Amino acid sequence: MLMSARARLFDALWPPACPVSGVAVDRPGHISADIWLGLNFLDAPWCALCGLPFPYTAGAGVGRGMVCGPCIAKPPRFDTARAPIAYDDASRFFILGFKNGGRQDMLVQFSRWMARAAAEEIAEADLIIPVPLHWRRLISRRYNQSALLARALCRETGLPFDADILARRRATPSQAGRSVKARRRNMAAAFEIRSASQLAGKVVVLVDDVYTTGATVSACTRMLKLSGARRVHVVTLARVVRTRDPTM
Ligand SMILES: [Zn+2]
Repeated sequence: MLMSARARLFDALWPPACPVSGVAVDRPGHISADIWLGLNFLDAPWCALCGLPFPYTAGAGVGRGMVCGPCIAKPPRFDTARAPIAYDDASRFFILGFKNGGRQDMLVQFSRWMARAAAEEIAEADLIIPVPLHWRRLISRRYNQSALLARALCRETGLPFDADILARRRATPSQAGRSVKARRRNMAAAFEIRSASQLAGKVVVLVDDVYTTGATVSACTRMLKLSGARRVHVVTLARVVRTRDPTM
């Protein structure tokens, strides 16, 4: 009672505002309707493996378990990848704000979206592991945004969190502007497993902020599976969605 009265007084004095638009909203951490409507939420029908949405025009002929062209050509190392929103003009601003500016007021919202997008994968998971950031980058950025997302997802789902199993072996140069091949090379051997005994037979949810080419999460998956993980499900807040012909 006291807390809710205090919360009401606080809200009356400092009304909660959308962290992106600044417009007044119902609760702290909520986003305003205009921003919400601009977001491109991803949903089935999507590739059973990488989560790439199929165009809705193809929806009628696309059933559960359908796999996209690129995944048929080269199956990913991870078992599935899921993301609730597209990484585009509408989402870039607040994702970069979260990534670089330390803006954490939307973490609960983000974790709910992620939990919904990967509900089936999370249901069979044993633990949640974030993609690690090298300590040098950790110092310059002060926190690991993937670990923040992973921890929030643990709070949302009740699954255990472990940021000690997987670590960066060395600082990798920024991936920006590199070709897919160069990214893969750059990522190779960048990760190491610190406690393999905890991975044997486990289903792991691997959390990162944005899925672009999948190079980072593939490199992590490789190490996790070499150490005995049974399945690895990648869950990111957003993913780059390139329009592709699913029949290609
Ligand atoms: Zn795919």
